[in-house]
Amino acid sequence: MALWKTVGNSTLDGVSRVADLDASKLTITLSETLKPIPPRDTWLFGNIMTDHMVVAEFDPETGWSNPEIKPRGPLSLDPASSCVQYGTTVFEGMKAYIGPDGKPRLFRPDMNMARLARSAERMALPPFNIDQVLVLIKQLITVDRRWIPSSSGYSLYIRPTLMGTRMGLSVAASDHATLCIFLSPAGPYFRSGVKAISALAVADTVRAWPGGTGGHKVALNYSPGFLPLRVAQKQGYEQILWLLGDDMKVTEAGAMNIFIVVKRDDGEINLLTPPLDGTILPGVTRDSVLALAKAHAAGEIILPGLQQTLRIHAQERTFTMDDLWRWSADGRLLEAFGAGTAVIIASIGKIGFKSREDIILAEHEDGLGPLANAFRTTILDIQEGKEAWKDWGVLVDEL
Ligand SMILES: *Cc1c(COP(=O)(O)O)cnc(C)c1O
Repeated sequence: MALWKTVGNSTLDGVSRVADLDASKLTITLSETLKPIPPRDTWLFGNIMTDHMVVAEFDPETGWSNPEIKPRGPLSLDPASSCVQYGTTVFEGMKAYIGPDGKPRLFRPDMNMARLARSAERMALPPFNIDQVLVLIKQLITVDRRWIPSSSGYSLYIRPTLMGTRMGLSVAASDHATLCIFLSPAGPYFRSGVKAISALAVADTVRAWPGGTGGHKVALNYSPGFLPLRVAQKQGYEQILWLLGDDMKVTEAGAMNIFIVVKRDDGEINLLTPPLDGTILPGVTRDSVLALAKAHAAGEIILPGLQQTLRIHAQERTFTMDDLWRWSADGRLLEAFGAGTAVIIASIGKIGFKSREDIILAEHEDGLGPLANAFRTTILDIQEGKEAWKDWGVLVDEL
């Protein structure tokens, strides 16, 4: 049982006792017919769904319902629901991989759970026990396990989603919510070989701003980027490079955190990514890249393909478009790459801005610069259980 203060439904002591989310109360209804698994070459990102989903509902009077795993299908929503009218939806994106031992595993899922709780709090959605959400995720993966291919680069993308379902148009927090977790098998992001992407830097639309919601994984952060993305794609770029402020601080690339590699005067290299000032999404991949770079610098690991003596200075530091132009003109901008769960690491080969000449980064044979490649390989090896690092790989069997 959870204890927290409620506004409308207070008991004598001002504290209401309602049921917390409890995975031990899970009921499982299996689908009578399992879907055929479509050929892997038809798997785009998130276009194919597995057989089952988790659903639990929060009611302010009674708390969380007993969670269910049931055949995947549409939810029924009143059109006046908070999430439909006011966008009170938050979500997570994580992946399960099959290890060499044949067991499914997750990558740093505690970070996703903590972020889900922060996103829900930011949208004033009801609280829930994040450990129980993780247990439910593991149960669902176990039920739909046949969808995870064991080939390298393949995984099961997991989309925990929390929606405000209060019915009514008053512009206020939703005291009802639905938690839904579903799965989508995922192939390698780049189907015909890894290649560098292009990004158009835009100054007239912003993704996030100080005091806004950019630091949370909330649905309403994404749709405002669709129109600028369409415009950029018409101009031949694949992603948007998001800027902020008159000084054009570089913030993120599409829905990825951005890193750049800059050669220093002393010949060593800086690995830079913008600091978590509330406008940057605190990515699990971002955190992993920073941690691995620091471990390499401390001599705790040697990143593949890099010299042990290569001094990498990983820094969370603001940089601007002017910095990029200057470092590029000086031949010091060695690499730029995006980091996020879907792609892991994507090199950026070209950065455009209005009518200025594109910044062109050095081309690499396998589509990734040496640092981008080192981080991608290491993170994928840990995700796939080929390497162990700290407590980053978490077995699904261990409920
Ligand atoms: C999800 C997301 C990322 C990457 O986060 P990961 O935890 O690494 O997947 C980066 N930027 C934005 C805007 C995102 O939504």
